[in-house]
Amino acid sequence: REIHKFIEEREEKFTFSDIGGYEELKNILTIRIIKPLFNPSIFQKFRKRIGGGILFYGPPGCGKTFFARALAGECNLPFLAVNISDILDPYFGQSEKNLKEIFEYARFHKPCVLFFDEVDTFGYSRVKQRQESFRVLTDELLLQMDGFKSENEGILIIGATNTPWDLDMALLRQGRFDRLIFVPPPDLEARREIFRVKLMGRPVDGEINYDLLAQRTSFFSGADIENVVETAAEAIIDEILSGGKERGITTGDLLKAIEKVKPSTIEW
Ligand code: ATP
Repeated sequence: REIHKFIEEREEKFTFSDIGGYEELKNILTIRIIKPLFNPSIFQKFRKRIGGGILFYGPPGCGKTFFARALAGECNLPFLAVNISDILDPYFGQSEKNLKEIFEYARFHKPCVLFFDEVDTFGYSRVKQRQESFRVLTDELLLQMDGFKSENEGILIIGATNTPWDLDMALLRQGRFDRLIFVPPPDLEARREIFRVKLMGRPVDGEINYDLLAQRTSFFSGADIENVVETAAEAIIDEILSGGKERGITTGDLLKAIEKVKPSTIEW
């Protein structure tokens, strides 16, 4: 398989079980996305449309990319990820060409999940000149999504954005990113499970008080919690390297690390 310079392909398999919490969202995705994908005939019979794109929106670091990857894993499909800002090219017409090539690559490698991060990138700009070039690029995206419907069959197109309000409304119409799915900040239960997932495979000492950790991390994103666990692990490694005795992570270490990490979903 050739490598495409704008597409990151993840080989390592990833599923819903790697995501802590979010049981309701996992159910919704199973019913709305995975089941239709595996049972197209029954959906066709009832004239329920499949196809088009899905848009994940929500605060940063709360698992939009993670959910897209896990969807690919659950469906046993390769995951092709593109960051929209990477394909922007000041050379006239080149950004559109890049986008067209990405779709051609995905059509060649389908069935697959084609994931666009930061789809809001070209939705909006105060700079007049950029507005025009973003509009042309948006038109190309619409053409690739809308104009090649049957060729795109077998490609699950997923977009992600932190700022859905910056999107060009044309992108949200039927046949485009017409299914919006909110990926919220983790609730208490999800925070507890994210701690569990992130501590898996690391040495711990004593019982970890997951309830307490979850209570102390309101407004923390999944990425923030990952950061907390990393911070705690680093502190212990430093301690051991400077002559301390070897030990595992404790609830106390994690509470200390929580004080050092700032929650990032407060202002969303
Ligand atoms: P951005 O908007 O910044 O692109 P995002 O919503 O796409 O963020 P991800 O990249 O999916 O966020 O998540 C960031 C990191 O946070 C992931 O690498 C993952 O380790 C961790 N993470 C987020 N949510 C969860 C979760 N529910 N379970 C386990 N890990 C999580």
